[in-house]
Amino acid sequence: MNKYIEKVLADVKAKNANEPEFIQAVEEVLTTLAPVIEANPQYEKAAILERMVEPERTVMFRVPWVDDNGVVQVNRGYRVQFNSAIGPYKGGLRFHPTVTLSVLKFLGFEQTFKNSLTTLPMGGGKGGSDFNPRGKSDGEVMRFCQSFMTELSRHIGADTDVPAGDIGVGGREVGYLFGQYKRLRNEFVGVLTGKGRPFGGSLVRPEATGYGTVYFAQYMLEKLGQDIKGKTVALSGFGNVAWGAAQKLVQLGAKVVAISGPDGYIYDEKGMTQEGVDYMLELRASNNDVVEPYAAKFGAKFVKGRKPWEVKCDIAFPCAIQNELNGDDAKMLVENGCMMVVETSNMGCTADAVNYLNGRVAFAPGKAANAGGVAVSGLEMSQNSMRLSWSAEEVDAKLKDIMKSIHDNAYDTAEKYGMKGNYVAGANLAGFIKVADAMVAQGVC
Ligand code: GLU
Repeated sequence: MNKYIEKVLADVKAKNANEPEFIQAVEEVLTTLAPVIEANPQYEKAAILERMVEPERTVMFRVPWVDDNGVVQVNRGYRVQFNSAIGPYKGGLRFHPTVTLSVLKFLGFEQTFKNSLTTLPMGGGKGGSDFNPRGKSDGEVMRFCQSFMTELSRHIGADTDVPAGDIGVGGREVGYLFGQYKRLRNEFVGVLTGKGRPFGGSLVRPEATGYGTVYFAQYMLEKLGQDIKGKTVALSGFGNVAWGAAQKLVQLGAKVVAISGPDGYIYDEKGMTQEGVDYMLELRASNNDVVEPYAAKFGAKFVKGRKPWEVKCDIAFPCAIQNELNGDDAKMLVENGCMMVVETSNMGCTADAVNYLNGRVAFAPGKAANAGGVAVSGLEMSQNSMRLSWSAEEVDAKLKDIMKSIHDNAYDTAEKYGMKGNYVAGANLAGFIKVADAMVAQGVC
């Protein structure tokens, strides 16, 4: 390995020893950067890597709120403002019991490169809380969001830091967060994306991550002279991202045979129909975190407590959460004839899985494939600034163009550095170069 990269990686491991997800994300990126680091000595001279692995700012705060029984609850809130070299910090808020500083630092780090790839001027950030919205009443979620925003509002702004949704944060939560920000600051600005349509939300934002990942897969298939129509697909998850992907896949004539939840997975041998896709929304709205009811309703099989990577499929789209697909899952997929894995969750594959899959099958890393969500967030920011709104067709066409740019940039960059077909390296290198050049130009800051 390159000496400079080796040194920075060792320092990151020593300094952040109790942050395994963050170390995993940094290692995955840094170990692919040698060709640009060697060709550009100015990066080492300006300590670009040392600066890139340190968030510009991390805010950690208490979130007290009162539950429906009148009992005071306390959660921990965070915002990691990772890198603002190419635009205001931008990235989602995650409300999930697994949220820790390590998880949010990995997500903020990834977001910096992902946002760079979108072609739009957005820096990287991420935030959230260990609050679990599952099983909470609307009133509890609202009081939590209001308390969370009461602190967060001091640190964000339409030109400073623009949060959005992520796992556990959808339209309802963004609405409550926006309402509280507006009330505290007495200003109606595009400080959050993923807003409701009547108050500045963009059309196609709810579908964007799922649609974008399928567009990305289409561009990859095009390079291989293949079509998505007729391909058998296994998805994980049943939330917003899996729903958007399923919807687009069904529209394009792919056969979606699996979705999953924390309780197990559904195997629908005939392939999902539009009714099945619509039913995913009902499952999610039920607030129960289970997919099992899908089986009885659509005559499909429910496999309790297992992951969908054991089904026979051509393409797998992990759409749930980090490290949901491990080395054993990867081997099983390949043995069953899978030819493409499109990582749609952030760091959805373990390092083992990425190493095994990349090269054996066509493999798309999350920071490229799932960038459609934040890209349409960027388009929401543009519409808010212009005080205009675009039609669904206009937004969808822009999303498609952006996914094509991301695909081509990752593909061409990999080829330029002698790693044709390696989208992991291509996405990391392309995402990195833009941010690194901006940092060099802005001096030591
Ligand atoms: N949470 C999404 C992501 O991981 C979207 C972020 C955003 O729209 O700001 O990219």
